[in-house]
Amino acid sequence: MKIRDLGEFGLIDLLSRRIPAPSARVLKGIGDDTAVLKPDQGKLILMTTDMLVEDIHFSLLYTPFRSVGWKALAVNVSDIAAMGGLPTAATVSIGIPPRLAAGDAEEIYLGLGECAEEYGVDIVGGDTVKSPDRLVINITLLGEADPDRVVYRSGARPGDLIMVTGPLGASAAGLYALNNKIAAGEGLVRDPIQAHLFPRARIREGRALAQSGYVTSINDISDGLASEILEICRASGAGCKLDAEAVPYTVGIANMSRRAGVTPLRWALYGGEDFELVFTVKPGGADAVRAVLKEIGCAPVTVGMIVNSDQGCVLIENGRKTELVAGGYDHFRE
Ligand code: ADP
Ligand code: MG
Repeated sequence: MKIRDLGEFGLIDLLSRRIPAPSARVLKGIGDDTAVLKPDQGKLILMTTDMLVEDIHFSLLYTPFRSVGWKALAVNVSDIAAMGGLPTAATVSIGIPPRLAAGDAEEIYLGLGECAEEYGVDIVGGDTVKSPDRLVINITLLGEADPDRVVYRSGARPGDLIMVTGPLGASAAGLYALNNKIAAGEGLVRDPIQAHLFPRARIREGRALAQSGYVTSINDISDGLASEILEICRASGAGCKLDAEAVPYTVGIANMSRRAGVTPLRWALYGGEDFELVFTVKPGGADAVRAVLKEIGCAPVTVGMIVNSDQGCVLIENGRKTELVAGGYDHFRE
């Protein structure tokens, strides 16, 4: 079916059938001038937005439409995770090129609906427009948190340990496999491809960290470990020592990086889109934090330490110190 035969309202109707039924907090969802939500008493409201643009954030040469929908929401949920919050409700604005079939848009909403279901998000509205050329999808997501349990980037202090919730570089490894048409069936390729196309947001981990009382800052790893640690350091007015040998990655990531002729460390530091959390822990709090994460099946890894700002931000590799620089994607640089 062609989108032009459905029209804007037929399309909105078709898409809204692909998302989960609204929960009790939604007094009015899709279908009026605004959504109407009932706030949870005593909670703070978190609000975030992220946009995906075809050929900037993904290519339809290797990205299924279902992944576009999943990822557009998951990247927003990840930001809520990095504050220690729970996601609640989202609006979805989508610019659709006329070449897409109605079934393609439906697939986007299938993935979006699966992600909404997974993280308990109500899709309460949006906007549907024609885009002359590329597919664009922007999501605004609300979340909530207990007032004394929000974790900012700015709380890291010298002596805090720097930890990550899991192995890094999987998404970059998956992107390499997709770009080079390395089939999902080959050896250990499937997990990195899955990590790239259907990333998980670490909501349970973020909650556990925020509740632990020992965590002084959290950031989600969307642009690579280097860039995210530097953001924590900048916001906290601190420096860091990052131990290159401690950065964790899986066998699948190591294998793929060998094929690509790069080190897995490079993908971990600069690859991005892993959506693991990097966080800092008060001295003496590491065991308690490990224990609360273990309960939810997460084994965090210590990758460095926060130091005084006058010591700068450094990477220590084979005993050699180099300045830690951000290597993630910058939209306005070549
Ligand atoms: P309005 O003209 O009042 O902005 P629209 O005609 O744009 O409303 O949309 C009708 C209803 O459908 C609204 O509730 C809007 O939030 C919802 N909606 C529109 N596009 C989308 C979309 N892509 N996903 C989810 N809901 C949507
Ligand atoms: Mg509108």
